[in-house]
Amino acid sequence: MWKERIIRGDLFNSCVVPFSLKSLNIGLPIFNPMKNTEILTCFQCGTCHASCPSGKYTSLNIRKIVRDSVKKDVSEEPELWMCTTCYNCQERCPRGIKVTDAVLTLRSEAVQKGKILPAHRKVCNFLIKTGQSIPLDDKHLDIRKQLKLRTDLASWNKARKEVKVLLRSTGFDELVKR
Ligand code: SF4
Ligand code: SF4
Repeated sequence: MWKERIIRGDLFNSCVVPFSLKSLNIGLPIFNPMKNTEILTCFQCGTCHASCPSGKYTSLNIRKIVRDSVKKDVSEEPELWMCTTCYNCQERCPRGIKVTDAVLTLRSEAVQKGKILPAHRKVCNFLIKTGQSIPLDDKHLDIRKQLKLRTDLASWNKARKEVKVLLRSTGFDELVKR
């Protein structure tokens, strides 16, 4: 089960989940939208795009990404990284196409080829260095206080170390260097 969660990318609740699947020794992703015939059942109804919160504010057109992924390599499309993985599209697709899972798989494939947006690479490098993806500075601590979230930094040290070990052991750090 945990392997499937890693492949889906929801282990880190993040839009930057370029895991090295080879280093995990679990072979290729279970869902490959470039080959999977499920994608071919898309009848271009547009429900996915209409449900997409990110598409309202960015150039992401998830329907186009789905359609294009069948016929060409979309790993250099910046829109691939604009999805927040909210799963709205996947929940609402009348064909039951795993749209968000496809985005995550396409991203993993892009990263395997060394293609990752500079902003995302920056976040990845920060995560590798610190074990966290968001700086724990005064600004963010204030926000956490307002949200009544924990702010005792010392208690997170163990978790941060574990994250760093996990990133090294999965080959994440090497992957980001590509
Ligand atoms: S909602 Fe599903 S069937 Fe409709 S365009 Fe999107 S992927 Fe295709
Ligand atoms: S999962 Fe991504 S593509 Fe789908 S609705 Fe959410 S932001 Fe849009």
